[in-house]
Amino acid sequence: MRHITSKLIHGSSGKEDQQYRSLKTPIYQTASYDFESAEDAEKAFRGESEAYIYSRIGNPTVTELEKRLALFSNADNALCVSSGMAAVSNVFLTLCSSGDNIITSPYLFGNTWSFFAKTLKEFNVEVRFVDLENPEEIERNIDRNTRAIFMEVLTNPQLIVYDFEAISHIASDKNIPLIADNSVLTPYIFESKNLGVDIEIFSNTKFISGGATSIGGTILCYPSDKWAAVPKLAEQYDKFGQQAFYKRMHKEIYRNTGACLSPNSAFLQLLGLETITLRIDRICENALKTAEFLNDSDKVQHVDYPALKGAKYCDLTQKFLKGKSGCLINLELDGKENCFRFMNNLEMIRRGTNFCDNKSMIIHPASTIFWDTPAKEKELMKINDNMLRLSVGLEDVSDIIDDIQQALYKL
Ligand SMILES: *Cc1c(COP(=O)(O)O)cnc(C)c1O
Repeated sequence: MRHITSKLIHGSSGKEDQQYRSLKTPIYQTASYDFESAEDAEKAFRGESEAYIYSRIGNPTVTELEKRLALFSNADNALCVSSGMAAVSNVFLTLCSSGDNIITSPYLFGNTWSFFAKTLKEFNVEVRFVDLENPEEIERNIDRNTRAIFMEVLTNPQLIVYDFEAISHIASDKNIPLIADNSVLTPYIFESKNLGVDIEIFSNTKFISGGATSIGGTILCYPSDKWAAVPKLAEQYDKFGQQAFYKRMHKEIYRNTGACLSPNSAFLQLLGLETITLRIDRICENALKTAEFLNDSDKVQHVDYPALKGAKYCDLTQKFLKGKSGCLINLELDGKENCFRFMNNLEMIRRGTNFCDNKSMIIHPASTIFWDTPAKEKELMKINDNMLRLSVGLEDVSDIIDDIQQALYKL
């Protein structure tokens, strides 16, 4: 097996179940495990055997998902957690101490922004929100206490595609860990390892779960020597080298935060992985056709879809994202009232906040996700009242376009 879809369907061993040869990975719905002897229990606790101890620490269904995700991304280690936000918090709790700082952009997933601006701030970790499209600004903000450059691979809802080579170059030049949130595109579209990313995270809730069946998250660790320069990981680096980050996170932070993924969710996400490439291909095709239709409509004032020909980030999408930019389209209508009327006119497309679902859905970010964000910050985040975020699904594209067309016609 050389190609990704086959690997995701069969896994590395081709043996989902040793006992009954079931072709699906069993759901090991248990909190705890039986040891054959007292000696075995001692060995397991000392980390001298692979035996499972307790499902907050490890579970066979979750392990199979982790193996499959490591295959997906070519990562050394994958750790699955209870949500995308558990992935974000586990990474920064592993990396940062009081007095440290992180460099990122203000264009972030809402709870990630809140985790940085509120939660970490109270632990005296400073988060510097800079323009990641401006290399000089990134460099200017790096100092000896900078522990990471963090970026979202496709920002939501601004849909910015960065010059990943430029950012990666700074991170390796300055020896700063580069962390990427790849929730929106997954390793199928954006290959973190080839672009010098040290840690990749994503929300399994999006594409991995198979169309929004469950909540989950993943942390992928690529081999890196940057851990030698992180004070919190110095001891681990002496012992474990390039695996220092993974070891500290897995042995300490992950267990202490209780961020484990449930085996039922892991099962659903394993199923999701079997069809992920087909779904992403179809969604990207549907989204591009929908964006082209919207772009040609004179009722729509502006359309943002990075893969669209002539779009601001089209060249970077070709260069770094295989010409694909996922399910999200931004469209602008004239005023909030028209946006609401358009949403309410839709018959098939749902009104909802998720994306990468099999179902198409739409939301007005300014009045929902960002309803309590101060006006100044909203402006900084490029959120305005004219804007709608459409997540294109797997339906027949002509039905998606027909629904949009009738809803626009009624405006
Ligand atoms: C959804 C999302 C998250 C959070 O994931 P949850 O599974 O909802 O906790 C984090 N980052 C990005 C970019 C996301 O889209």
